[in-house]
Amino acid sequence: MSTTANDYTNPLDRPSDATLQVYWREKANLKSVSLLRRPGIGDGQIKPTIEIREGVQSYKHNPYHDNEYFRHDPNKGTLHNPYGQRMMRVSEDFMIAMLGSLEDEVGLSGAREIMYKCGYQWGLHDMRTFLGRMQAEYEADLSRMRVDFLLETWWWPLNITGWGTWRYDFRQRDKGLMFIELYESAVAQSVGDLGAVVCYFYAGLFASVFSVLSRRSLGCVEMQCYSTGEDHCRFVVSDYERVDAAAFWRSEGASAKDIIKKLHSM
Ligand SMILES: [Zn+2]
Repeated sequence: MSTTANDYTNPLDRPSDATLQVYWREKANLKSVSLLRRPGIGDGQIKPTIEIREGVQSYKHNPYHDNEYFRHDPNKGTLHNPYGQRMMRVSEDFMIAMLGSLEDEVGLSGAREIMYKCGYQWGLHDMRTFLGRMQAEYEADLSRMRVDFLLETWWWPLNITGWGTWRYDFRQRDKGLMFIELYESAVAQSVGDLGAVVCYFYAGLFASVFSVLSRRSLGCVEMQCYSTGEDHCRFVVSDYERVDAAAFWRSEGASAKDIIKKLHSM
């Protein structure tokens, strides 16, 4: 079918399905969880499956409180998370200024494309470090972990760092359609009601993360947004043909409900 130009859904460096397999060969990264290690418990070996261990766990799995998650070093002026990654706190004004200056430099469609691609690369990078950490933290091989367990463990750090809460719907996965609802989008809440979808970072992020998890190259498009006056944002993750079609229908003014209906009839 013919669609409008939605080039942002086609990152040039989109990995092939074969490349996506590489992420699954990531080895357990013990260093990434060394700050959460409880000495003397467990043998630190990676098992084929997750073993139930009663009592105190080898690693602290729930560091999701401000004073545990954000590790300041006032002497160095640095901030790290419990996985040893450097972080930066920014205000909503920073977000608005960043998006505004991007648009001033490259125009609206260029800014959208860049945001999508940044989100996409962020997701790829994040999956690589996350899959290494996940195996170390749960002392188990990736292949035996349930996808919902992986997804919730992946999202938690994004939740506490202000990227919002989410809900995903895999009921149509057999038909190649996955849906995500996002509440309190950091981007949309910063810029407010603009009458257009704005969460291109997230669309790129979901595209690459779900590509890695499902081991095939997928795209994502935002169907409705807090910035179009809705109370939350909604995304569809699917193959590129359907994602391009969804972007086209959205540009024609279709609601999320209409887009989903049309996607089902493709
Ligand atoms: Zn949005």
